[in-house]
Amino acid sequence: MVDQNGQKSPVASGYEAVIGLEVHAQLLTQSKMFCGCSARYADAAPNTLVCVVCGGFPGALPVLNQAAVEAAIVTGLALNCDIPRFSKLDRKNYFYPDLPKGYQISQYDMPLAVDGHLEFASGGQTRRARITRVHVEEDTGRLVHRTEANGSRVSLIDLNRSGVPLMEIVGEPDLRSPEEARDYLTALRQILRYIGVSTGNMEEGAFRCDANVSVRERGGPLGAKVEVKNMNSFRAVERALRFEQERQTEALQTGQRIEQETRGWIEDRGVTMSQRTKEQAHDYRYFPEPDLPPLIVSEETVSGLTSRLPEMPAQRRARFAQQYGLAESESMQLTAERTVADFFETVAQSDGVDRPSSAANWIVNDLTGLQRSRGLAPDRLPLSARQLQDLLDALEQSRVTVRAAKELLPQIREGEAVMMAAARLNLLVLDAAGEIRDAVVATIAAFPAAVADYQGGKHAAIGRLIGETMRRTDGRADPEEVRRVLEEELIRG
Ligand code: ADP
Ligand code: ZN
Ligand code: MG
Repeated sequence: MVDQNGQKSPVASGYEAVIGLEVHAQLLTQSKMFCGCSARYADAAPNTLVCVVCGGFPGALPVLNQAAVEAAIVTGLALNCDIPRFSKLDRKNYFYPDLPKGYQISQYDMPLAVDGHLEFASGGQTRRARITRVHVEEDTGRLVHRTEANGSRVSLIDLNRSGVPLMEIVGEPDLRSPEEARDYLTALRQILRYIGVSTGNMEEGAFRCDANVSVRERGGPLGAKVEVKNMNSFRAVERALRFEQERQTEALQTGQRIEQETRGWIEDRGVTMSQRTKEQAHDYRYFPEPDLPPLIVSEETVSGLTSRLPEMPAQRRARFAQQYGLAESESMQLTAERTVADFFETVAQSDGVDRPSSAANWIVNDLTGLQRSRGLAPDRLPLSARQLQDLLDALEQSRVTVRAAKELLPQIREGEAVMMAAARLNLLVLDAAGEIRDAVVATIAAFPAAVADYQGGKHAAIGRLIGETMRRTDGRADPEEVRRVLEEELIRG
């Protein structure tokens, strides 16, 4: 269908997208899922974090990582899931060169968490999507394909990632647009970061999303779903879904049938390509993992983990707006990262005038700008809360002017006291007793004509003298203070 502007418009066509996401997130544990090898493989040389278990040697026995199980349960709780008392691990059988055992230990029919929901902001509204399940599994190794100097192409295997704990979060098909899918992912990642179970970093592969999408006549029965893979940013997920929505809508409009299939997103061409159809789907022959006992999750474990949950981003956002009188957009920005929200609250609660609003202003306008220009991660601010507090104190006590504070900000060193930085950079307001009076006396001596005018009754002549004194102090003096000292000296003289 084509609208008045000649644009293809799936939205106007009476068709709608139905989207359900499957997210894999790496769990931030010290060790791997079933052995003691370090799970922090980012900077390790290839194949240095491998043992007989994660190397897939026959007969090596797995030991379940308690921290990984707890992290997945905490995630389930944060996503309003039920935690069944009984759970188990299963073998998912398939062959791939990066999977040395020939099977992956995962969870099939008895996951750690079920039947939850996620509330998220989208298009100015609060939306809710149901969460089907959260389960744990192990990551695979990595294949590296490259061309050697002599032109031969080789495939190398690195097993450092083999056995790293993952959790999979499966969502119900409750999302209705690519934008909504992106907003859901944003909210989900925020929660994972708040509860500290994953970095949620998509570029580093710690947060991966397979997107299922079908198109149907609005309100009609569900269509066959297409699973799209290989997106490595939130933007790519949104683009891939929009491409699929348009492709499928067009196919339906021309009377074609959509086949259930898996497609890959090709970032630089902006298209999806078929990878395999339903007929080629794997049969994983799941069966209960015989080397691990089933899991009993006690009431005490669940209540213990529940008490560890921090305030969630959405609640914190609402509370910030209410308690500190912030604008919606400000509380949104200030709660995006837990560390920033903590930083804000520390400064907002410090003694001073209008601390919440000035803290919000400085963080949203100045600190995040500086953070961006320095290329810092979104959870790292370029100042400590203590330093911002001291800067606000200095402003309130007129020890620096607003202009000087803005100049000072990017030059404060890590751990440096704000007043020391201001002194080092000569940005302190001059103290009235000493330097201002010296400058005033020098000005009076240098401009006898203006002094005579003033003393002869032309009081406007003081403006000239104030300007000259300001020039002598490089603009660091408070002009009101200069006027006061000038008047004193002129009367005395
Ligand atoms: P499968 O049997 O292929 O694993 P599931 O029913 O378990 O399929 O769903 C897998 C994912 O696909 C879930 O995230 C779910 O929300 C989504 N999904 C299921 N059916 C549809 C559909 N008709 N359209 C879009 N997404 C769907
Ligand atoms: Zn190992
Ligand atoms: Mg399924």
